[in-house]
Amino acid sequence: MISLYHKVQKVESLQKSVDKDTKVFKRHACIECESFCAECCRYNDVTATSLEFLPFAWHAYKLGLLEQWLEDLEKNESQQCIFLRQDADKWGCKIYPVRGLICRLFGFSAITDKNGRPVYAACRILKQHRPETASRAGLYVVGGGKVPVISTYYRRLASIDPSTGNDFMPINQAIKKALEIVYFHCLYRESA
Ligand code: SF4
Repeated sequence: MISLYHKVQKVESLQKSVDKDTKVFKRHACIECESFCAECCRYNDVTATSLEFLPFAWHAYKLGLLEQWLEDLEKNESQQCIFLRQDADKWGCKIYPVRGLICRLFGFSAITDKNGRPVYAACRILKQHRPETASRAGLYVVGGGKVPVISTYYRRLASIDPSTGNDFMPINQAIKKALEIVYFHCLYRESA
């Protein structure tokens, strides 16, 4: 059976490949996020898997922050991601380098239509504020331009660990579950 650390490494390597592919797509389709926008993190219905947050949980353990974040998540009642900065003078994700797969893909990826063809999934803000940019990126994809397809990366994620890689839940729950997996793993290892 694959060790927890090995799983963390495999998820990290998938995250790197997502970052590389979205970077290429952004360059070719000429799209970028609006400055200081984090609207996609404000959605109440973001779902994720615990597996994609395993590297985050591992780093939280290494930094000695795991139990604190578990407590914060236990007290949390909001549906918005707990790591979105809410202060007026600060912006963005508190755990950006170790954020999940969906956080990396959103806005720079495609879903597939009923025939399996990729359809660019522009974010709401881009569609509202720069509709011509969103439609140009859509046309780039229709014309055969290479685009990261969300389901492809989630299939690759699930191949690392089918049980946690296929189990989608609200993002805060997924983050909490990842922290619990690492917590109980380390507790067991320390008491063995
Ligand atoms: S983990 Fe970070 S990037 Fe992902 S939804 Fe939360 S605040 Fe946004």
